[in-house]
Amino acid sequence: MHSSLRLGIDLGGSKIEILALQGSQERLRRRCPTPQGDYPATLAAICSLVEECERELGMQGSVGIGIPGTRSPDHGRIKNANSTCLIGQDLAGDLEQRLQRPIRLANDADCFALSEASDGAGAGAASVFGVILGTGVGGGIVIHGRLLAGPNAIAGEWGHNPLPWRQPADDRPMRCYCGLDDCIETFLSGTGWAARSGLGLDAGAIALEASQGVPAAQQALARYAEQLARSLASVINVLDPEVIVLGGGLSNIGALYSLVPALLSPHVFSDQVNTRLVPARHGDSSGVRGAAWLWP
Ligand SMILES: [Zn+2]
Repeated sequence: MHSSLRLGIDLGGSKIEILALQGSQERLRRRCPTPQGDYPATLAAICSLVEECERELGMQGSVGIGIPGTRSPDHGRIKNANSTCLIGQDLAGDLEQRLQRPIRLANDADCFALSEASDGAGAGAASVFGVILGTGVGGGIVIHGRLLAGPNAIAGEWGHNPLPWRQPADDRPMRCYCGLDDCIETFLSGTGWAARSGLGLDAGAIALEASQGVPAAQQALARYAEQLARSLASVINVLDPEVIVLGGGLSNIGALYSLVPALLSPHVFSDQVNTRLVPARHGDSSGVRGAAWLWP
C-alpha cells in the first residue's frame, strides 16, 4: 500500500520551494524564483509547482505552505509578513479555490519548529522551542508533536520582546521595524548584530573572523552569545522546553553551542539547567519539510 503524498511549500522572499514527501521519504523537490511584489503571479507560481509535482508523480497530495508571516485568526488574511504584497491577502482561500482542496498555512518559523520536532534535532522530545536566527528572529513551539497555536497566531514570537536584563555593554537603544525599541531581533538578527558590532562587516564575516581569532570579532561573538543566553533564559523561565533547536544563518556558528549553555544559569530560575541547545538537523530544508508536516 502507498502512503499518502504530502506537498510542502516554502514561500520565501527570493524563492518558492516545493517538496513532495511520501511517508518520510523525499520524492521530489523543485524551486522557482518568487515573483517580486506581485501577488497574482505568486499565486500562479505556487499552483504551477503543485501541478508540475503531481503530474510527475502521478498522484494528488495534501498541501501545506509556510510563509514569512501569519494568517490572522480574526479575518483569515495575512499579517506580519515581510513580503508586503502578501499582507491583507487571503492566501489560503485563494489557493484552496485554485487547487480545489483544503490548504494548511503556517508561519515559516512554525514550520521550522514542526520539522525539527517531527524528525529533526528535537525528535522524541515532549516540548521543542524552534528558533530562527537569520535576517529576522522568529520561533515556534511544538508540544507533544503539535504546533502551539494561540488566539493571536503569534506563539513563539520571542524576537519582539525586549532584550531582558539590560546591561551597559548592550549598546544604545535601537528602534525595531515593529515600532518598539530594543526588540531581541535588533540584537540577535544577522543585520542587527552586524549593525551593533560597529565592525563594518556582515554577520557571516564577523563569525569567520571570530573563528580565526580576531579579537574584535571574538568580542562581538562573546557579546552575542551572552545576549542570546539572556534572551533564551527568559523563554526557558516561561516555557521550560526540553530542547531548543537553532536554525537560520547564525545557527551555523558552532561556538554558540558551547558558549550559550554555560551562560544560561544566572538567569534561569533553577539550580541546574537541563535544557538542551542543539543545531537544526535539516538546516535550510526545515521550512519546506515542516510545511509538508502540517498535514499528519
Ligand atoms: Zn520589534
